[in-house]
Amino acid sequence: MKIAIMGAMVEEITPLLERVGEYREIAYGGNRYYEAKYGSLDLIIAYSKIGKVFSALTATTMIEKFGAQKLLFSGVAGAINPALKIGDLIVATKLCQHDLDITAFGHPYGFVPEGKVFVESDRALLSIAKEVADELSTTLYEGVIATGDQFIADEERKEWIADTFGADALEMEGASVAVVCDALGVPFLVLRAISDAADMDAGFDFDTFLESSAKESADFIMKMLDKLNG
Ligand code: SAH
Repeated sequence: MKIAIMGAMVEEITPLLERVGEYREIAYGGNRYYEAKYGSLDLIIAYSKIGKVFSALTATTMIEKFGAQKLLFSGVAGAINPALKIGDLIVATKLCQHDLDITAFGHPYGFVPEGKVFVESDRALLSIAKEVADELSTTLYEGVIATGDQFIADEERKEWIADTFGADALEMEGASVAVVCDALGVPFLVLRAISDAADMDAGFDFDTFLESSAKESADFIMKMLDKLNG
């Protein structure tokens, strides 16, 4: 079984590379991909760079060039749901693009013809995540993640995303990866640890908590890999 693990920033995959130990680096498409073995699993690990376009490119490359059969995204996000505190883990049940807007033509926000507003995560991977959380006695939130090409540090925009999509957290790559995986028939899961609350303090909080929250998420992904190893 070949599994892709991706992040957006180097900080999101460094803890994963440290855990797998030996890996082989391959340069492709302006990016670096890392092949590694983890028990019986073949892994392909990469960070895409920030945003929907780079993350779609990386997800596609991991699937089409490297043959990934499942994809796990590990990273950080801004909280919308006030129950989510810095360091908390949230897994997306479904994802949407909050900045996709052709409402001028009567379409809903986040929708383009032949697309869908929400892409749902793989149920089997979601249940593995829940099993891992139970075993670790960790709280794992489940909810809607909204993605857009903007760092949100603004209460008003955050409230709009909450009201429009019922979103619990927001970030900049999840939904684009979801669209790619859905189109190519690859089961995926997007896991995020909260780095900030997408409010006035978001920039400061992000810088402060990026590393620790990225590690929270990566550690959880490693536990999921242990389960997938059987
Ligand atoms: N400090 C970085 C930029 C970070 S952009 C630099 O200067 O290079 C924020 C990244 O973390 C994105 O990959 C996004 O997915 C996630 N993220 C965390 N909090 C976010 C927020 N409030 N709004 C949007 N994305 C957020």
